[in-house]
Amino acid sequence: MSSFDFDLFVIGGGSGGVRAGRVTASLGKKVGVAEEYRFGGTCVIRGCVPKKLFVYASQYREHFEDAAGFGWSVGESTFNWEKLIEAKDREVGRLEGLYRLGLENNKATIFDSRAELVDAHTVKIVKTGQTVTAERIVIATGGSPGMPETLAGHQYGISSNEAFHLKELPKAIAIAGGGYIAVEFANIFHGLGVDTTLIYRGMEILSRFDGDLRRGLHKAMEKKGIRIILEDVFEKIEKRGDGRLAGTTLKGETLLADQIMFAIGRRPNTANLGLDRAGVELDEKGAIKVDLYSRTNVPNIFALGDVTDRVQLTPVAIHEAMCFIETEYRNNPTSPDHELIPTAVFSQPEIGTVGMSEEAAAKKFPEIEVYRAEFRPMKATLSGRVEKMIMKLLVNAADRKVVGAHILGHDAGEMAQLLGITLKAGCTKDDFDRTMAVHPTASEELVTMYAPSYRIRNGERV
Ligand code: FAD
Repeated sequence: MSSFDFDLFVIGGGSGGVRAGRVTASLGKKVGVAEEYRFGGTCVIRGCVPKKLFVYASQYREHFEDAAGFGWSVGESTFNWEKLIEAKDREVGRLEGLYRLGLENNKATIFDSRAELVDAHTVKIVKTGQTVTAERIVIATGGSPGMPETLAGHQYGISSNEAFHLKELPKAIAIAGGGYIAVEFANIFHGLGVDTTLIYRGMEILSRFDGDLRRGLHKAMEKKGIRIILEDVFEKIEKRGDGRLAGTTLKGETLLADQIMFAIGRRPNTANLGLDRAGVELDEKGAIKVDLYSRTNVPNIFALGDVTDRVQLTPVAIHEAMCFIETEYRNNPTSPDHELIPTAVFSQPEIGTVGMSEEAAAKKFPEIEVYRAEFRPMKATLSGRVEKMIMKLLVNAADRKVVGAHILGHDAGEMAQLLGITLKAGCTKDDFDRTMAVHPTASEELVTMYAPSYRIRNGERV
């Protein structure tokens, strides 16, 4: 019999922590899980799930407009922000309950409290002051939005956390950042009728994504009426007498808005966690350092998900949890696979992508073939919406393997999931060519681009 109170103690009840706790408990192990806020973590409570619900809500305006081209006349439509928030909160509450139930059904012990390490085997339940011991400890405390603390007036700004609970829909919003969270919220607010400006210090939004998609989305967003300011940042934010915010940029422009939102990166939740007491090492960004098996430098302490700052996505946190269980409780050492992760940006139009960008592939391989199609999707013919779809396959000329697949347009996220399988399976362009098209769809372009649009040889387009 173990001399510890628990076989496993998990700190953090989000995507990674709940999966690690629930599945380990289902193996008959004694598991404790502590969550300081709400079970479900970032993804369920203030990330992927409410965000996607907002995305759906924001798409209706265009659906109503597009309907006319198909013979419908839609009456005057209005939008009620409070109703959306209420419905979203109900759904989030339901999911939170399911996460909790999954732990309870498997007889894990739940602590609704912050937890901190006392030493390598001891955890303090902050709410009660109680301490418990565990043979193994998993830290899955996730991350939080980074705020620009040195910026004058930053306290007037909000992060994505608050965006989910605004009392009223702003008339105008300025969003600082160029990553997927900033871009998605810009599209959400614009779709809901908010005058939206995106301000980003980089040369183009969505760094590390394929250049074609970045430029294509930028153009599409501007065409819809979202203002995008590049290579500039806020220098100060002031609250005016009428309650509105004035954000002055480095280049001297003043943006007036009811809300200013920062989506400028997330920070790992490692502060005051007692990691120093247990001797757990952090990297220069404050993320927990782990080896290939998510083990920290302290042999019985593991870390997974966003707190390790490997790839900040829910399926990755869950995968890392499953690998931890395989390794530690099923005697089958398995390290997480971070290669070829398909992903989406739920902008409007959407991005779906897997594998290398053209820029990265051109650097890595002596010669690549680029298959590219840009076209007006069928739905847009009758709706009259001027929106182009881009599809792109990148092929390593040496072995014909598809090393990148990128889509901009409706349902691109759904397509990326399936493309992820083909790239993971190592499919070649010839496999794509041998595959029958599904007609009429947009995705049939993926199997009907027979000749390369161009090649890149030794970094030069030919
Ligand atoms: P989290 O889910 O963040 O869970 C950590 C939990 O630990 C939290 O509940 C926190 O309260 C708790 N905690 C922290 N410290 C303590 C402590 N000391 N004691 C007890 N509890 C503690 N990913 C996608 O894959 N697709 C998306 O579309 C997507 N959209 C996103 C949109 C937004 C706006 C944001 C912010 C994130 C989004 N993500 C998305 C990322 C995704 O939410 C995270 O990658 C994922 O939640 C990470 O899971 P995790 O278990 O590492 O951490």
